[in-house]
Amino acid sequence: MLDMNWIRENEDIVRKTAEWKKVAFPLTELLEWDDRRRQARRETEQRRAERNALTKEVERLLRQGDAAGGEQAKEQVREINGQLTTLEAGLLEAERRCGELLLLAPNPISADTPIGPDDSANVELRRHGSPPVFGFSARDHVELGELHGILDIPRGVKAGGPRSYVLKGAGLLLHLAVQRLALDVLMQRGFTVMDVPVIVRPEALERTGFFPGGMDQTYELTGEKRWLAGTSEVSLVSLYSDEILDLEAPLRLAGMSACFRREVGSAGRDVRGLYRVHQFSKIEQVVMCRNDAGESEQMLQEILGNAEHILQLLELPYRVVAVCSGDMAMKTHKQYDIETWMPSRDAYGETHSASNLLDFQARRSGIRYRDEDGRLQYCHTLNNTAVATPRILIPLLENHQQEDGSVYIPQALRPYMGGAEKLML
Ligand code: AMP
Repeated sequence: MLDMNWIRENEDIVRKTAEWKKVAFPLTELLEWDDRRRQARRETEQRRAERNALTKEVERLLRQGDAAGGEQAKEQVREINGQLTTLEAGLLEAERRCGELLLLAPNPISADTPIGPDDSANVELRRHGSPPVFGFSARDHVELGELHGILDIPRGVKAGGPRSYVLKGAGLLLHLAVQRLALDVLMQRGFTVMDVPVIVRPEALERTGFFPGGMDQTYELTGEKRWLAGTSEVSLVSLYSDEILDLEAPLRLAGMSACFRREVGSAGRDVRGLYRVHQFSKIEQVVMCRNDAGESEQMLQEILGNAEHILQLLELPYRVVAVCSGDMAMKTHKQYDIETWMPSRDAYGETHSASNLLDFQARRSGIRYRDEDGRLQYCHTLNNTAVATPRILIPLLENHQQEDGSVYIPQALRPYMGGAEKLML
């Protein structure tokens, strides 16, 4: 959420942001409602002051024995009370509308964010490693998974419907191994690891900036007034809502959770295999730090670096891209994606998404800290994937496959795979 005064002073930036992010934000309507709110507040306060003065006057007149004068003043108090009822209802309505419209205001983008309509305008910043060159006919992850008996999509669909899957045996172990590795890396780097709720209140989704815009992408639990979170970012941030934090050092959190996504609008896209599913698992990094652009930029680089380190441990080729305005969520100020090489797509595919939200979520969630002068400030929040699986199993199986059908297991994963060096046929 943005500060209303800031919006008033930066109308141009707000309009441009909405245009660049392709969000329909009714700025004019918000400004009108804010005018009404200010006007209603002024009038209400004025009338209340008049009423208070008149009430005192009534007491004074009655004390003096002026019954007629007292009655006349009482009549005026009744009249003002009537006006106040209308004014207060108007003020309440204006405050409600301002609150609703403010939730739709997009977070401004950073100066170094590329401007563009969609992911075709994302800018590649660097590459790490090289895509493998196979001297044999390479299999995709579905073929490899079936060959090894570690993936069963037809039975997954039988139980769970489209975009479902079953990981079996070494497939499940790999799925767990990448998560264990990510948790160990993050713990070594000062993160507090947590298992957090995936069933969340709508307020948590609204205050973290997923609602109202993302309601159609989220599963609602019928009759529960609760929803299934698409990422543990929702819970990790909401754990601290309405709290005053000690941010002497940034708060580094890692959530392990199942993630649920409706993927509305993706019909016909990525229908083969594990790329786009409705339920997956993710280790997510969330950082809360002081309201300082330099500090949060540094934290963005840190959580990006953590994800790159994990990919390097997995020995996978990847690239980092600066995400453009049109490919960004309304809540995001600056974003990097990491795309990992996926041989079956003959392309890099998104596996990680790192974002700096500045104080956007904290303002909505009421998360503050005291600065050096003891003043309360909203903190900055950031997040990045550490690992999301089974999507990461696509590059893991495909890049590491051998001619004989076996799959090389990177050194860093072996401790979690009973020491195995390969998935053997
Ligand atoms: P996000 O929280 O949307 O930034 O996504 C973080 C990561 O989760 C992505 O980069 C993917 O690796 C993974 N992911 C997101 N959506 C899906 C999905 N529908 N199926 C599988 N993995 C997903």
